[in-house]
Amino acid sequence: MGSIINMQRKHAIVIGGGIAGLCAALELARFDIDVDLVEKGPALGGHARSLTCKATDRCVKCGACLVEERLQAVVENPNIKVHLGSEIMEVQDSGGFSVVISNEGKSTCSCEADAVIIASGFSLFRPDGKPYGYKRFANVLTNLDLERMIRMQGSVKRPSDQREPEKIAFIQCVGSRDAKTGHLWCSRICCGAALRMSRLIRSRQPQVTISVFYIDIQSSGRDFQFFLDGLRNDVRLIRAIPADVFRTEDDRLSMSYFDPTSRQSKDEIFDMIILSVGLCPGDDLKGLCSLFGMKLSDSGFVTVSDKTEYPEKHGVFAAGTVLGPMGIAESIASAGKAVWEAIRYLKI
Ligand SMILES: Cc1cc2nc3c(=O)[nH]c(=O)nc-3n(C[C@H](O)[C@H](O)[C@H](O)COP(=O)(O)OP(=O)(O)OC[C@H]3O[C@@H](n4cnc5c(N)ncnc54)[C@H](O)[C@@H]3O)c2cc1C
Ligand code: SF4
Ligand code: SF4
Repeated sequence: MGSIINMQRKHAIVIGGGIAGLCAALELARFDIDVDLVEKGPALGGHARSLTCKATDRCVKCGACLVEERLQAVVENPNIKVHLGSEIMEVQDSGGFSVVISNEGKSTCSCEADAVIIASGFSLFRPDGKPYGYKRFANVLTNLDLERMIRMQGSVKRPSDQREPEKIAFIQCVGSRDAKTGHLWCSRICCGAALRMSRLIRSRQPQVTISVFYIDIQSSGRDFQFFLDGLRNDVRLIRAIPADVFRTEDDRLSMSYFDPTSRQSKDEIFDMIILSVGLCPGDDLKGLCSLFGMKLSDSGFVTVSDKTEYPEKHGVFAAGTVLGPMGIAESIASAGKAVWEAIRYLKI
């Protein structure tokens, strides 16, 4: 009897253990599908695991805490087998998928799957080539560096001397909406993330003044306008793309930009500069998709069919930021949609 039930059970592989992969695995397991969850890194949670809670007097709905609870549920679920430090090495497609998984680059294991969900996430734009001094000046950080700093130590300090900064500038759209890098898309999450972060810093370190240099403010969430209006007294919003950044003799940062109010070029001094770098296709997404015989779109994200919004390859589905930039709540919703399509495909 047990073996008959076993024969009827379906098996899926989820690739990537970020919020999208965690949610896809949990949802599949709810339908009694056995899941192998393959995560390249040493831990589950993906990028969202590095984000800090932005609550001040109230929750600002950033979604970062949604990861921890899903993570715990995955680890405790008997239908989900987690492979950390693992990647897909080979795929044979013969109606179902025979997949070889490498474990920490050494041993390998094989498994059969009826369906596959690709949820291997995004890579962040590397701003080394931009004229903003990233990697050259210690007090120029990315938005993710800043998230990690506040998560670890609770406040912002200048990496160069551990002093609290007086003036911080955020530069938005670094590596997004940028013809020079070929990344014409908006990364969708970085305006909301920078404004929530500004509010958090101002509430913990009220002596810090914050300027946000932007092209457009991308709204997110129903109460975004209300949130933005409440921020105007706290944050200076300047519609300009800074040209370049230099280090001054007293270890501060001089930034030049065209000031839209005076209509003149201006040099302004800051203690720290935060680059809101964009979401790009995952570094190994192309190689991973080619194992399944799938092509990527011109922008480098997973291509979906016009009709179904899912990859055209039978039995392969995609969830989260492999489909393009999106936030945590949307990644969760997209995992739900991918599983729904997989369930229909598996005729469960
Ligand atoms: C600075 C910053 C701030 C943000 N702030 C917010 C915010 O306030 N609110 C919000 O909603 N969103 C925010 N986001 C966006 C949020 O991080 C993403 O929406 C979310 O992480 C997407 O999850 P994902 O599972 O699609 O991808 P990821 O988080 O990238 O997870 C993908 C996982 O797949 C793994 N992987 C990659 N390649 C392979 C492979 N070949 N094989 C196996 N595993 C693989 C990776 O190691 C990773 O664990 C922010 C992002 C950044 C960078
Ligand atoms: S949603 Fe964000 S701000 Fe709200 S409690 Fe969770 S982590 Fe904090
Ligand atoms: S969300 Fe804002 S900062 Fe990010 S790319 Fe879009 S407009 Fe630029």
